[in-house]
Amino acid sequence: KTMLEVSGLGHRYGGANGHQAIADLTFQVRTGELACIVGPSGCGKSTMLRSISGLIKPTSGKVQLNGSPVNGVPEDLAVVFQDYSRSLFPWLSVRSNVEFPLRSRGVSKAERRERADEVLEWVGLSAAAKKYPWQLSGGMQQRVSIARALACRPALLLMDEPFASVDAQTRFELEDLLLRVRKQFDSTVLLVTHDIDESIYLADRVFVLSKSPASVVADLEIPLGDE
Ligand code: ADP
Ligand code: ADP
Repeated sequence: KTMLEVSGLGHRYGGANGHQAIADLTFQVRTGELACIVGPSGCGKSTMLRSISGLIKPTSGKVQLNGSPVNGVPEDLAVVFQDYSRSLFPWLSVRSNVEFPLRSRGVSKAERRERADEVLEWVGLSAAAKKYPWQLSGGMQQRVSIARALACRPALLLMDEPFASVDAQTRFELEDLLLRVRKQFDSTVLLVTHDIDESIYLADRVFVLSKSPASVVADLEIPLGDE
C-alpha cells in the first residue's frame, strides 16, 4: 500500500522567471517503509520537504498522503528537524514539549500524559520528563523531538537531516534508536540526508537525487541486513 505518492513535483521560487529548485520528482513511499532521500547539498531536499509538509505550494506536480492531496499542513504528518535547539520550547518541561502538539489535535489531558510517558520511555528519557530542554545534551534534545513526533502517531514521519548536528557516537545511538522505535510504533518514515552511508544503514529504500534542480536518478531497495 502506498502512503506517500509524489508525482512530477516541481518548484520554482519567485515566479515564471524565478529559480527552479526542484524539477520533476516522482517517487512513492509504502506504508511501514523507512525511505531515505539522499542528494547533494542545494539539490532541493528542503524544498521537497516543504512541499510534502504543505508549507509551500508546488508550482507543478502533486503530493498525495494516504490517497488524499496535501492541502496545507496535514495533521497526520510530523516533522523532526536538524536543529533540535530551536525546535523545542525552552520554557516547557520535556513532558510538556511532547504533549504540546497533542493539545491542538484535541487529545484529552489524561491521554496526552499517557502518550507522552509512553514515548519518553521508548526513547529512554522517562527520568528526564520534568527537566527542561536546556538541561539536556544535544542528543537527548533530539530524542525529545523524536518522542514529540511519535506521540502524534503520525501516518508519516518526516525527518530532515535529523542526526547531522550531533557527534558521531550520538548519531549511531540515535540511528539505532530510530530503528527500534519505528518497529515499535509501525511508523512510515521519510528521512532526508546528504550521507549515503547513513541512508544505506537505515533505509529499506533509498532515493538518490540529482543536483539542483533535483529529479530522482535512482530508486534502490536495500536488502535486509542480519540484525
Ligand atoms: P537542499 O535542502 O537540498 O540544500 P534547498 O531546497 O534548500 O536544497 O534549495 C534548492 C535550491 O533552491 C538552491 O539552489 C537554493 O539556493 C534555492 N532556494 C532555496 N530556497 C529558496 C528561496 N526561498 N528562494 C529562492 N531560491 C531558493
Ligand atoms: P558490519 O558490516 O561489521 O556488520 P555494520 O556496518 O553493521 O558492521 O556497522 C556496525 C555498527 O556501526 C552499527 O550497529 C552502527 O551502529 C554503526 N555504523 C556503521 N556504519 C554506520 C553509518 N553509516 N551510520 C551509522 N551507524 C553506522
